[in-house]
Amino acid sequence: MNYSTYLKDYPSKDGRFGKFGGAYLPDHLIPAFEEITDAYLTICHSSQFINELRRIRREFQGRPTPVYHCERLSRSLGKCQIYLKREDLNHTGAHKLNHCMGEGLLAKFMGKHRIIAETGAGQHGVALATAAAFFGLECVIYMGEVDIKKQAPNVARMKVLGAKVVPVTTGLKTLKEAVDAAFEDYLENYKDTIYCIGSAVGPHPFPMMVRDFQYIVGEEAREQFLDMTGFLPDVVTACVGGGSNSIGMFLPFINDPVEIVGVEPLGRGENLGDHAASMTYGSEGVMHGFDSIMLKDEKGEPAPVYSIASGLDYPSVGPEHAFLREIGRVKYDVASDKEAVDAFYKLSRLEGIIPALESSHAVAYAIRRAKESGAGSILVNLSGRGDKDLDYVIENYGFEDEN
Ligand SMILES: *Cc1c(COP(=O)(O)O)cnc(C)c1O
Repeated sequence: MNYSTYLKDYPSKDGRFGKFGGAYLPDHLIPAFEEITDAYLTICHSSQFINELRRIRREFQGRPTPVYHCERLSRSLGKCQIYLKREDLNHTGAHKLNHCMGEGLLAKFMGKHRIIAETGAGQHGVALATAAAFFGLECVIYMGEVDIKKQAPNVARMKVLGAKVVPVTTGLKTLKEAVDAAFEDYLENYKDTIYCIGSAVGPHPFPMMVRDFQYIVGEEAREQFLDMTGFLPDVVTACVGGGSNSIGMFLPFINDPVEIVGVEPLGRGENLGDHAASMTYGSEGVMHGFDSIMLKDEKGEPAPVYSIASGLDYPSVGPEHAFLREIGRVKYDVASDKEAVDAFYKLSRLEGIIPALESSHAVAYAIRRAKESGAGSILVNLSGRGDKDLDYVIENYGFEDEN
């Protein structure tokens, strides 16, 4: 397959990546999503939008983020060279701001004055609240009461940034109920509101838009890597939750002779409920408004999932990933909690970079590959920094060499 026209060819007009994707919506929400699609497809080509997004990335987010050569880590493993794309240095400390600023700018261009979302661990909520503050938009974040208790620092951040955090008290009081509450709000308020989805998932046009806004990550990384080394990397890798940081990293390499690998969380093991490796153990289905690969329980409902990295515990994956695997362009592998924690310490001790537990999964995979291959180069998307995970890791694993 020739991938040179890939971005033009996918998704199709109705939001399909092959058989995956689409928009499975209640009738009364269809016009709202069509309005976003039409507006986006016009606005994203206007020079005003493009220039403003460029300025924001440079002056507010601190882009471009660098590519960094991990010399000490690489040497400790053998001859293979590991490089990081430092999305942890993006403003707010992770890649999520890339699509939140894009979504916020789109809201502004569409004349909407309110953006809403659900959040689980609070990372998406913080990124969106940041965008709302920047653009002067009203921001409402739905969050399960249980998660609010667990994630106090992120709740505080959202509130300091001026967002309203609405506790959701139905059902299990976690992410699923928060999604329902945010959807209800959107049903009532779509005339002046945009519902900002937190990853490359959801009904069309979100997987496409989020991908387009994250594309900058791989685009910068490809050019920076070529400048640094004169070559392309042998392997490009990133962790996969919903699939936003990975899709942005992968696509600019899609037409290159480069192996691309997405890394899913194996959690505590292979049993359903112990991991969130949707691509590895899931099957096709429709969930949250799109067709993709997902983990289901006996009733066909989204299965309970688990990962040490709360940003990765999602029972499905963006439809474009399902497609890229089907056509054989991207491979998916797994890393366990334990491997992620080992990588977390290794990168901290050998390079002075504390990675997010999500990103640690990709680092763990790179470490495994480097040991096996003994040559070549691996470029890892370091999607975020690990400050948010310190308390949890120390409480559960101590300072590693002590135990
Ligand atoms: C949310 C998050 C992820 C997972 O989300 P994707 O959409 O799969 O990228 C990965 N890394 C960090 C640091 C996150 O905050």
